Parts: sequence; C-alpha cells; structure tokens
Amino acid sequence: MIISLFDLYKIGIGPSSSHTVGPMWAANRFLHALQAAGKLNDTARVGVCLYGSLALTGHGHATDTAILLGLAGEVPDEVDPDRIDDIVTDIRTRQRLKLFGKHEIRFIESRDLLFLTDERLPGHANGMRFTAWDAENETLLSEVYYSTGGGFVAREDELEGEHIGRDSNVNPPFPFSSAKQLLDICRITGMRIADVVLENEKAFTEEERIRPGLFRIWGAMQGSIRRGCSTDGVLPGGLNVTRRAHKLYNEMIHRPEAALKDPLSVLDWVNIYALAVNEENAAGGRVVTAPTNGAAGVIPAVLAYYDRFCPGADEEGIITFLATAGAIGMLIKHNASISAAEVGCQGEVGAACSMAAAGLVAAMGGSNEQAENAAEIGMEHNLGLTCDPVNGLVQVPCIERNTMGAMKAINAARLALKGDGTHMVSLDEVIETMRQTGLDMQEKYKETAEGGLAVNVVEC
Ligand code: SF4
Repeated sequence: MIISLFDLYKIGIGPSSSHTVGPMWAANRFLHALQAAGKLNDTARVGVCLYGSLALTGHGHATDTAILLGLAGEVPDEVDPDRIDDIVTDIRTRQRLKLFGKHEIRFIESRDLLFLTDERLPGHANGMRFTAWDAENETLLSEVYYSTGGGFVAREDELEGEHIGRDSNVNPPFPFSSAKQLLDICRITGMRIADVVLENEKAFTEEERIRPGLFRIWGAMQGSIRRGCSTDGVLPGGLNVTRRAHKLYNEMIHRPEAALKDPLSVLDWVNIYALAVNEENAAGGRVVTAPTNGAAGVIPAVLAYYDRFCPGADEEGIITFLATAGAIGMLIKHNASISAAEVGCQGEVGAACSMAAAGLVAAMGGSNEQAENAAEIGMEHNLGLTCDPVNGLVQVPCIERNTMGAMKAINAARLALKGDGTHMVSLDEVIETMRQTGLDMQEKYKETAEGGLAVNVVEC
C-alpha cells in the first residue's frame, strides 16, 4: 500500500484537492488516453458529466474551472494561478477550447459540462465521465474517473490501486499497511519511522531527488504562508469572507513588545500560518495538498511552528517531520480515507492533525512509539468531524478549522512527548474507528453542503 511522499504532498492550486486538483488531473489523463488512441485530432466535441459530491459542491469548489483548465492542457502543479481567470474567460467568451492547448473544438459549457446533482456513480462519491465524439457524432472514447481525495484520481478499473500517474507497481523494501507493522519494522531494524519512509521512497524517486523534493514542498508551504500574510481583501465566491492572516500578521510585527507580555502569543503565530495558507487555498492560489487542500494549512502551520519556535530545529528535522507525517497519511489513506466525500472532515483536517502531531514528535527527537501515540491522539479527537462547507465553498468552517487542527496537533505532540509511548488506544484502532464512523455518517455531512453549517448559516 506504500505510496510516494510526492503523491501525498503535491504542489497544486486551491480550493480543493478532490474537487479541483483531482478533476484537473482526470481531464489531463483523459486527453492523454485520447491522444494515445490517436483520436485527439478527430475530436469534434468533448462532454463531461459530474456526479455525487462533485456535482453538489463543484461550483463552490471550482470544479468547473478545473475541468476547463485540465481540458486546455493545464496541470495543477504547473498552472500559473495568475493566468487562470484569463484562460477560463477566453474559453467561456469564445465558446472554444484548445484540447491540450493545440486542437481547438467548440465547447458550450451549458451543454458540455453537466452537474448531475441527483446522480451518483457506484465507485465513489466523486465521479466524472468524459466522452469525446467525432464530427459525425460517433463516440471516440468514453471513460469514468473518480477523484478519491487528496488529488488522487482513479479510472473506474483502477479503484483498487488508485494513483495520479506514477508507477504503482513498485516494490518498496519495507512495505507496511498498519501502524503495528510499521513499528515492528522499526523495532527490528532500529530505524526511525522517517528512515523507513525515506528508504521506501527510493522505490519511487531517485535518491538524490528526495531531499531536494521535500525541501521544495517545504518551500511551497512557506510561499503560501508568505502570500497569505501579505494579501488582504475579501475571498471570492460570494460569502464575503474577509482575509484575516494579513491583519493579524501586521498586528504582530508592529507591536512585537506585546508578545513579551503574552506567553501564548506563539499560538497567534500558529493561527496566522494556518489562516494564511487556507486563505490562499480559498482564493485559488498555490498550496501544497497535505494531505488535502481543505486541510492544507495544518502541516505548514505546525512545521513553521517547529522551524521558528522549537529549540534545535534544523533542516534534518524538517525532513523527519515530513517523512513521519507522510507515514501516518499513508496509513489513514490506506485503512480509512482522506476524502471528505467518504468520511467527512475527519479525513481532511483530522488526518492532517494526526500527521502533523506525529511529524512534530519525530522532529523534536521523540521515539517511534511517541510519534504513533501523537498521531493517535490527533485523530482520536477529530473522530466524527463532519464536512459542511457553507455555500459549498472551502471557507467556512474550513479556514478556521485548520487553526484548530494545528493547535490540536501541537497539543497531541506535547502530550505524547510527556509519556513513554505506551497508551490504551492504538493508532490502528482509531483509524478503523474513523473508517466506521465515516461509513455511519449521513451523506449530508460528507461534502455535499446539504447539512450542518451549510444549511444553518444564513448568507448575508
Ligand atoms: S469542512 Fe473540512 S472536509 Fe469539508 S471542505 Fe472544509 S476542510 Fe474540507
């Protein structure tokens, strides 16, 4: 079940990994399939149908934008966020779209991109069907894809081994599918959790590219913190949510002496980091999916806390943090889900909290058992967390919720570091509980915007 760290941490754009990043990759994969079949240049029309949660909250999550960009040949980690409006406006104005940026077809959005809110495909709540026709209206290719959370995409015949394009037939040296197995490997070999993950990563990525790749991820996280702290105004989408990170950041840097009087001012900084990233995400900016976009602020906030406030923090600690957190993300994805459409927000902010807690413990020199304990605490106290975004936008409760996830992760790490790693509930047990809770959760609490805050908050 091992997946690459670089599939778990992906540089992309906001606001949603499952509803923006995933559909963009799906459109890209469909075009590749069309091209491989030698049918791209015969295509006269492409139609896309969205089902389930993608249809219900796709407008608020910019799924329509993502599909248009994907069909135009853009990919999430390379598209320039500042060009997105121009690309989409051009397609909508001219009603023409260049597939892969080279083969132009007519594209009438009201006809060719349908949100089927009453229908759901059998494989997953986030289903998409792409169809290409030639000039005689003969079907050239029709494929179903699922966006399974965290930007992962699977064609309907790949659901068991979902991937985003990397070779999934690799054989890592230390495979694990449970926390118990992972801890056993560590005990037998004397390795840290991070060492196991980094050894496994060599099966996916050339060794000399792993550390630079992880520093690139950390650099992108810091970039989203910086942009979020330097940008003010109102977020798009119609809810009129005002950005807060910029204002709070300015207050902190213009009154530095206030921090001397308030020992908890470090918490204000953690809040600022998380708000900054998630406001960037909500604005469609560049963020790192970690493990999802809705929860993209938790890990950067906790890692920035480590980098700036923890004694002895260094580059090695950053690698250790990301690799250890990655192991927890892999376990949650494999044994439960990181898709809010499947298990609610416990799979997004809950997963990020659990990952960050373990990462922080490991970076601070804690044992493997303490890291597992921290991950368990981080998830245990997010069990049952619903997904109910107001207006289907990844803004309320999402942005603020990331500050809570970051705080909880830091507290979980501190609790675990005060113990010796022994504890009553295992990480495996809490992940299984999360899975079962997600199954029991009513659909209206799973990224449909049909329950919870989404129906109780009156829009202004
Ligand atoms: S409520 Fe949680 S899971 Fe739902 S969109 Fe917001 S961050 Fe994502």
